[in-house]
Amino acid sequence: MRKRLLYILIFTSSINIFPQPFGKISVVTDKGIKDIPSYSREKTVYFSIKDFAEATFTNYFYNDKNGKIELKFENYLMKVTAKNPYIVITERETGKQIIYQLPTSTYSLNNLVFIPVITSIKPLEQAWGKRLTYNVPNKLTVGDKLPVVEPLIVTNDVKTATNLYFNITDLSISEKANGTLITIHSNKRIPSYYSSHKDSTLTIVFRQVNADTTRTERNNLSGLIKKIETKNIGADTELKLVVGKNYATNEVMNAEGSNDILITIHNKLFSKSKEETKTREKWDFDIIVIDAGHGGKDPGALGVNKVKEKDVNLAVALSLGELIKKEMPDVKVVYTRDSDTFVDLYKRGKIANENNGKLFISIHCNSSKKKPTDINGVEVYLLRPGRTDEAIAIAERENSVIEYEDDPNRYEKLTDENFILVSMAHSSYMKYSESFADMLNNQFRDNTKLKARGVKQAGFYVLVGASMPSVLIETGFISNSKDANYLKSKSGQTQLSEAIFAAIKEYRNYYEKQMESEL
Ligand SMILES: [Zn+2]
Repeated sequence: MRKRLLYILIFTSSINIFPQPFGKISVVTDKGIKDIPSYSREKTVYFSIKDFAEATFTNYFYNDKNGKIELKFENYLMKVTAKNPYIVITERETGKQIIYQLPTSTYSLNNLVFIPVITSIKPLEQAWGKRLTYNVPNKLTVGDKLPVVEPLIVTNDVKTATNLYFNITDLSISEKANGTLITIHSNKRIPSYYSSHKDSTLTIVFRQVNADTTRTERNNLSGLIKKIETKNIGADTELKLVVGKNYATNEVMNAEGSNDILITIHNKLFSKSKEETKTREKWDFDIIVIDAGHGGKDPGALGVNKVKEKDVNLAVALSLGELIKKEMPDVKVVYTRDSDTFVDLYKRGKIANENNGKLFISIHCNSSKKKPTDINGVEVYLLRPGRTDEAIAIAERENSVIEYEDDPNRYEKLTDENFILVSMAHSSYMKYSESFADMLNNQFRDNTKLKARGVKQAGFYVLVGASMPSVLIETGFISNSKDANYLKSKSGQTQLSEAIFAAIKEYRNYYEKQMESEL
């Protein structure tokens, strides 16, 4: 058995490296038939471009120092380089260049440059101005004159041409503790994409872009992803990722500040630990952590009616806690603070984790630079890279609390890269956070006097630390006089806490049904 496996390995790798003789190709021209040898390598048939030139009586110049061969046709020169996927065709009269990309690089052996037969037909036709047909078994016929072909790209520079022609120019893969990060390098904003997962293959389609397939394919990968296949289909690019059995979920997002696309492939880290502890108790909906934002020396935002954000947050938090204790006596309430005290952001998440919370709710008030403002309403936030300038600004304001802390350097800047790590850790809860956020938004819309501004996403440090479904509520604009008066009033605070509690009730139902089916 072992011996057999060894044979297979040797056989397979020999195909990858060494071309195998693949019979003769008969080159048929109006001057007669000439046979040239062909070779197969990774299921592709190649011939030597020099043999081809000789068989077709085409003049050529070969520079064996740099492995370049140039075929001199009537109107065009065609340059092929060893170990390079590009064929450069130059119009003799104007010097304009047309670049073709082969699906694989050419290879060189014994001082000859080999090109794949089928995919070289188009550039050969372009350069020669004659129709070429390749028939099995191995007959290449040079036919009549072709009408003038419209060049694909015309430029004098190969590098520019590649970049002009391909939007997705490359990709990079990095392995993280809880998954794999793939960065798709694109020189154009990718307008839309979608992904699907079936039979251990994750398919991602990028709309309205094309990819340099030679640079975006990967084989024999050893991580979570085994293989990446890239295809340009019509106006779109399709990436097929063969993922191992440890695959759990994926996320596709636009990178901040570039046209790159980030794909995170998460492994089953969390589901595994869940399997290990298939006990009901661990997943019981038994602890809710309520986090009143700011406090003590940190007042938070200041309202147009002089109300302090820290006081509104605490009042709503305590009112909500009372409701839970009364209406859901089997659920324990944990406050990150229950008085006017200052608590570091990281400690808030720590408190939540140490108490094994099942839901983390951070309560804040929104504010705007312009005071007073017409902007009003309540927003629910999920932890994800901020997509809008507005969301980023809000996260920056809430995150600026760390200036009050002893060690502001404790928090790494939420760059794309480390954000991915964080969002990966949160991905297994994201489904729950999203559902709860939707329920909250509906409750605010239907049962409060505030305008429900929807569910948004941004990078809040306070949510980073909590390893459980978590949301942050911006309960209205303290910089808007109507909102500020509502937030200051006992009736407003009660209405808010009742709406949050109604969403918790709904969420508990949903959560328990989910756990029932997952455990
Ligand atoms: Zn705040």
